Amino acid sequence: MAREGILIVVSGFSGAGKGTVMKELTGRYEQYALSVSATTRDARPGEAEGRDYFFKTREAFEQMIEEGALIEYACYVGNYYGTPKGYVEEMLSKGRDVILEIEIQGARKIREQFPNAVLLFVTTRDAQVLRERLVKRGTESQEVILQRLLRAVQESEGIEEYDYLVVNDRLDDCVAEIHSIIESEHRKIRYNMELVNRVREELRSFSKGE
Ligand code: 5GP
Repeated sequence: MAREGILIVVSGFSGAGKGTVMKELTGRYEQYALSVSATTRDARPGEAEGRDYFFKTREAFEQMIEEGALIEYACYVGNYYGTPKGYVEEMLSKGRDVILEIEIQGARKIREQFPNAVLLFVTTRDAQVLRERLVKRGTESQEVILQRLLRAVQESEGIEEYDYLVVNDRLDDCVAEIHSIIESEHRKIRYNMELVNRVREELRSFSKGE
């Protein structure tokens, strides 16, 4: 019997290395399906359509909103970002654990719609590392880097709304830690009621001398 899939939200400051952690996690374990978001921001060098994002015009994105094709969407530093509904529903129904790498407004909307979703926040040990990574990445202008840092200040105020904090010091440790959090989640009673009910039934039969 396939186990029930869990919806996992991963947020973190820009530059915390979420993307790398998620690629490693999904590459290592088959149970995970990483949702690819739609966005109106320009592709960075090396990013591919359909792998990193579905790159959309503002009009096309707004049409997706109108058609109800997104589970959630948000505006981040002047661009739209949203999670397409179809893939998430299909993967969950197949028992895969679906990962949404999204920012905090989206995380809040997911929590409303999926109260059992697990919300993880990935951070570096200190803010200096974040700033260095953003600058070193070299893909954003000074202004955008500043806006992303300001956004990180806002997001840091919302960390209490998440279930788990994961520090991305060493990639391997971070990936292992996230996997172990998700495996623990699968042990929750609510995901194991079929087994619980079977054992209950058997015990009832035994107690009747059957
Ligand atoms: P970036 O431009 O660095 O790829 O992403 C900017 C922010 O948007 C990140 O915090 C990322 O997690 C978030 N993001 C990416 N896709 C989605 C999405 O589908 N929905 C929401 N709400 N945020 C997203």
